[in-house]
Amino acid sequence: MAILPIITFPNKILRQKARKIKTIDGSIKRLSYDMIDTMNDAGGVGLAANQVGVLKRLIVVQIPEEEARIYINPEIIYREGSRMVEEGCLSVPGYVGTVERSIWVKFRALDLQSKMIRIKADSLLAQVLEHEVDHLNGILYMDHLAEHEKLRSISPEEYNSTIRPDQTTLQTDDVEHFHTHSQSEIKPQ
Ligand SMILES: [Zn+2]
Repeated sequence: MAILPIITFPNKILRQKARKIKTIDGSIKRLSYDMIDTMNDAGGVGLAANQVGVLKRLIVVQIPEEEARIYINPEIIYREGSRMVEEGCLSVPGYVGTVERSIWVKFRALDLQSKMIRIKADSLLAQVLEHEVDHLNGILYMDHLAEHEKLRSISPEEYNSTIRPDQTTLQTDDVEHFHTHSQSEIKPQ
């Protein structure tokens, strides 16, 4: 287990497309666990391999109060609806922006045992999956900003108290969905 350095914008690796993983071997398992440690250390809710400098299609997700998830070769196969959410990124420290995301998504990926997982996700999980799969395709959340919108810089106080990079903040419906957590407990992606 190790905490890996997180690559930040404008490093070119964040703009490159990650490659499909053909064999899930010991090195992929180790990378997965290191990425979970790195995400948890940074207080994130998700992390893509590009963000630690590895161009492989692997993401990890940590929804508060749930077990960390590892998804290999993840794909969003269906999206429905749209909503505006405020989002940040561990690779773009100090900023947040409002972006359009789907209401829900159908998603599939392999787990560490090469078993196909299919899930239907909404709320924070859907948002994190869209954000992290974007990373694997070299897309950053700022790319989704409407033209009239700008990234908002946040103060160190705000950064430390409620918002961190690679973070999603929750909208009202999400807060209801995760009613056991206050917004300040919600950590980044
Ligand atoms: Zn991110």
